[in-house]
Amino acid sequence: MQYRKFGKMDWQVSALGFGLENLPADEGEAVKILRYAIDGGVNFIDAGAMTPSKRNASLLSKALADGYRKKVKIAAAIPAQIIDATSDFERQLEGLLNLLNNERLDFLLLGGLNRFTWPKLNELKIINLAEKAIAEKKIGYIGFSFHDEYQFLREIIAGYDNWTLAQFQYSFMDVDHHPGVTGLSYAADKGLAVVATKPLKGGRLTKEIPKNVSKIWSEAEPKWSPAEWCLRWVWNHGEIATAVCDMSSLEQVKGNIALAGDVKAASFTVPEELVVSRVRDAYRSLKPIPCTACRGCMPCPQDIDAPRIFEIFNDAVMYNDIAAAREFYQLEKHQVDNCNECNICEDRCGMKIPLTTWLKKAHELLAEKK
Ligand code: SF4
Ligand code: SF4
Repeated sequence: MQYRKFGKMDWQVSALGFGLENLPADEGEAVKILRYAIDGGVNFIDAGAMTPSKRNASLLSKALADGYRKKVKIAAAIPAQIIDATSDFERQLEGLLNLLNNERLDFLLLGGLNRFTWPKLNELKIINLAEKAIAEKKIGYIGFSFHDEYQFLREIIAGYDNWTLAQFQYSFMDVDHHPGVTGLSYAADKGLAVVATKPLKGGRLTKEIPKNVSKIWSEAEPKWSPAEWCLRWVWNHGEIATAVCDMSSLEQVKGNIALAGDVKAASFTVPEELVVSRVRDAYRSLKPIPCTACRGCMPCPQDIDAPRIFEIFNDAVMYNDIAAAREFYQLEKHQVDNCNECNICEDRCGMKIPLTTWLKKAHELLAEKK
């Protein structure tokens, strides 16, 4: 296993982190897989947003008995979306600590920070409450998970001096957004440990691979699997402290541990970078809407986030994954029906995209229940 510096902390994290999302339903098997990973050197677990209804808590407490707790650090999140008052945060934190048997939580993440949720938490002074929890030794360090554009990452990092970690999705398809390679370098430069999640884009880069992409992978040298290309590419970034993989089987854990021991930062050759960039272009060529996400069409008087809707729609087509796209669209509660066809957005779009037509098409596909 390869270990990397964890931001400003005097601690080395395993390059491979463990996410609990895809563990098998059989608890005994799940515990076995998690312990195998820890025995193989994994020392960072991303428990996500834990609630009593989720089985993560009972699974974790079983897996981390018998001395395993001491071998790992755990990050768990309180989603910003559910914090509307200081009492919400206090209740959520107590609940979280209860689920963790009232042991100290190593990293508390303010989950889902973006341009809307961060100002809300700031106004509620949630950071002060989190710092109080550090002083009371309930938690070790404070971090955040993020999904928005780069400029808002900068605002969040500038808004508090003692962030320890920033967590966001990062794969070779995420170089220029949310917050992309610029955000990655910025966070690392500011001394934050960067935790990358979804290096395979939640499996979308390894399942249902389109023909034009498959052809490039099959002709590429070295003969790595698409999953291996994805992971090697992420680990090639020395700014990333750990890449969290939601692993589901012993076989996958073994493969990823072996790989994490083999890869080095900044080791990709120019031809290897070229393969990844051809694959990226091949995916992008499948985007039905030529939206560059410049957000020049915003703001919309009806609060419709067209660039985000187009991103979800394009992803559904590029990755042949309508189910996940519908889930995001419906979860984010987009209200395309409120469009009054004022055409302000179309007049602003440098790409001359017929926004209202595409918005209707996207809504038709994505609003459908299953
Ligand atoms: S202005 Fe056009 S290209 Fe830019 S985000 Fe809006 S729709 Fe996309
Ligand atoms: S046409 Fe619809 S989406 Fe575009 S600015 Fe007007 S209300 Fe918003």
